This record gives sequence, C-alpha cells and structure tokens, in this order.
Amino acid sequence: MGPNVFVSQHPLVLHKLALLRSADTPPPLFRSLVRELSRLLFLEAALDLKTSPITVRTPLGDCVAQQIVDRVALFPVLRAGLGMAEAILDFVPDARVWHLGLYRDHQTLQPVTYYNKLPPQADLDVSFLVDPMLATGGSAVAAVDILQRWGAGRIKFLGLLAAPEGVRALQAAHPEVPIHLGAIDSHLNEHGYIVPGLGDAGDRQFGTF
Ligand code: URA
Repeated sequence: MGPNVFVSQHPLVLHKLALLRSADTPPPLFRSLVRELSRLLFLEAALDLKTSPITVRTPLGDCVAQQIVDRVALFPVLRAGLGMAEAILDFVPDARVWHLGLYRDHQTLQPVTYYNKLPPQADLDVSFLVDPMLATGGSAVAAVDILQRWGAGRIKFLGLLAAPEGVRALQAAHPEVPIHLGAIDSHLNEHGYIVPGLGDAGDRQFGTF
C-alpha cells in the first residue's frame, strides 16, 4: 500500500479489533474498545514526536530525562472521531482539540464542511486527524486540504479501519501524510460502507441505530 501506510500488527490491536467488529458488541463495550484501540494506534503514530532533555530531581539525585516539545493538536472528524480524540487526550493532555464537521452531499457526492472553527493562526507542530473509518477517503482528503491551507504542521491520519479505496484516495491526494490504521479491509459496498468493517462507527458508539 505504500511506505506511508502503517497497519498495526500489535496482538492487542488485533484482539480488540475482533471484539470491535462483532455485531454482538453493545455500545458501552464498543466505546471502550474505540478508546483502547485509539490509544494503542496513537502510541505507534506518535513515535516521532520530538523530545528535548530536561533535568528532574528524583528522591536520589538529578536525572536528565526527556520531555515532548512538539505542540500537538487533535482533529476529530465529527461525530465518530470524538471517542478517539477523548482517549488520546489522556496521553497528551496539553494537546489542542479542534473539531471538524464534514458530510458527503448526496447529489454531488462531494464533502461539505459544516463545522470548522479553526482560529486564523495555527500554532502547532503535529496534527493528528482522527476518524475511525477511512471509507471513500473524501472527508479525509478534504480535512487534510483544510489543515494544510491553515498551516497545521506535520499532519498524520489515524483510523481504526480502512477500505483500500480510501487509502488510495488519501495517498494520491496527500502522499506526504502518514496513515496509521488498525486494519485494511476488503472493499466498499454500494452504500459506501467498509466490508466486512464494523457497520456505522458513529451509530455503534452512540447507540443511534
Ligand atoms: N463510516 C462508517 O461509520 N462505517 C463505514 O463502514 C464507512 C464509513
């Protein structure tokens, strides 16, 4: 799939994805699996965050340790990305969170932005665009367009599942954006759902079937 696509092989990710996919998993468990998977995938996606030395005093003496110096921002795509951003925020509590609302117009099939409150000035180094499902790739491409125009620094995409069509679309439009995923599935069906996937990630998190 290309050098910038990273599909986790971690046994915990594989195990939790099986539970997440199951039609028998109810929303409370589904939400906690989304949280756990998001943190596991974030660990892999955050491997290149910059650190600088800092001296801390332990009970036994001084120690040169490291602190993260990159300014991090999370961009959950509404609404399914919310659970992912909340979970990742536990790891990087100082990160900024900017929400992006995008939907696909049924007539034109083009992504339409309905929520974007980005301030005029971007003051960050690394941006994580988080959306559980990379399906057609239309919203992801549109979101990266927005972030790049704004000056969002190094941009990374973090998702739980993808269709090959979505990965190809995002790579074609933005080959410089690393794509971190739990799995790449078989294909998209005629309704734009990932097969075998897990269904609607928003509905399954929020119980709105
Ligand atoms: N969005 C979802 O929630 N599920 C899919 O399969 C595709 C897009």
